Amino acid sequence: MKDDFTLWFSTTVHYGAGKVSELGSLLRSFNASKILIVTDRGIVASGILKKCTDALVSEHIRFSVFDGVEPNPTTDSVEKGLTLAKHESIHAIVAIGGGSSIDAAKAINVLLANGGQVADYHGFNQVRKKGLPLIAIPTTAGTGSEMTSVMLISDSKTHQKIVCSDPKIIPDVAILDPTLTLSLPPAVTIESGLDALGSGIEAYVSKAANVYSDVLALRATEIIANNIVKVYEEPFNLDFRSEMLIGANMMGLAVHLSYIGAAHSMANPLTKHFGIRHGIAVGMVLPYVMLFNTPWQPKKYKQIALALGVKLEKGEDDLTMGRKGAFKLRILLDQLSLPNNLLKMGVNEDLIPTMAHEALAQLSIDYNPVKPDLQQMTDLFYSAVRGEPSLATGI
Ligand SMILES: [Zn+2]
Repeated sequence: MKDDFTLWFSTTVHYGAGKVSELGSLLRSFNASKILIVTDRGIVASGILKKCTDALVSEHIRFSVFDGVEPNPTTDSVEKGLTLAKHESIHAIVAIGGGSSIDAAKAINVLLANGGQVADYHGFNQVRKKGLPLIAIPTTAGTGSEMTSVMLISDSKTHQKIVCSDPKIIPDVAILDPTLTLSLPPAVTIESGLDALGSGIEAYVSKAANVYSDVLALRATEIIANNIVKVYEEPFNLDFRSEMLIGANMMGLAVHLSYIGAAHSMANPLTKHFGIRHGIAVGMVLPYVMLFNTPWQPKKYKQIALALGVKLEKGEDDLTMGRKGAFKLRILLDQLSLPNNLLKMGVNEDLIPTMAHEALAQLSIDYNPVKPDLQQMTDLFYSAVRGEPSLATGI
């Protein structure tokens, strides 16, 4: 018999090129005539904000803009957005941007409805009251935060990550408009795409995976793997952008229904100590995590290899296929012009013992198919930092 599970399907998804033009009428359906937009300055400079606000003017919806969200949003920026939200007596919140803007909007919404500080909501199911209607407009194909019950905020004082997971914070609506992703710079395309790919793979093998998340995670992995190199090479191709946006959204729902694993646990210390962007860190450690995990989930890693495009040879066993999946992922990283080890990205081996401890303290490590011990985690870091064993064997 299968293990127990509970699923929340809470977000209404509207997909289409130019779909953002319907933002005003959507807000009207929530009786919202005064809103807060939570975003970052890049979105303002790129003209994306204007596309969204044009849709508000036609519906006579008044809006205030908080554009102070930074990558890895902090409690300080959440407080600033909250002050503006309180001052304006808003009816709804619209998040425009990557996972950072969406997570900051979730946090502002929680504090607006419940009071207190972000840290009060660390952990599972700590939110008492659902907040205002929240509409998320992702402009990267990466975190899938528009579908999830999770927000990640950095404490401005301690620099620790505050992780809050509660179904009450799931956005009510997600607008997926691929035209908004056309102007993403290559670095963001790669970073967000690798985060989506890594999350899809980790959601598929997570200890919390279930029959629903499996379907979404595997298909999301396949879609992203099929398109990430294409979209890197042809950034203005709307078909590839659409596939990536839908793949990342599907991944978000999969992660929401299961969780992530060791590559995410390892990525956070790499970001904290060396400033490596989250998705790049996930991608760089992922082949080694896959090699480590394959013996515990050989059937699933075979499916992942197939999703990544590995051809099944006659009579090949699951373990061999799983390992080939890790090699294939490394080839994909080469195609995205990423170096073959983390030393080349400025990572210092002296911090590996510290990072191994920190990785084992992450919530995500408990969802990896098997929890590595300290020595195994240390070895995983050495492998990724040195690029050993080399995975450039070809398939
Ligand atoms: Zn991630």
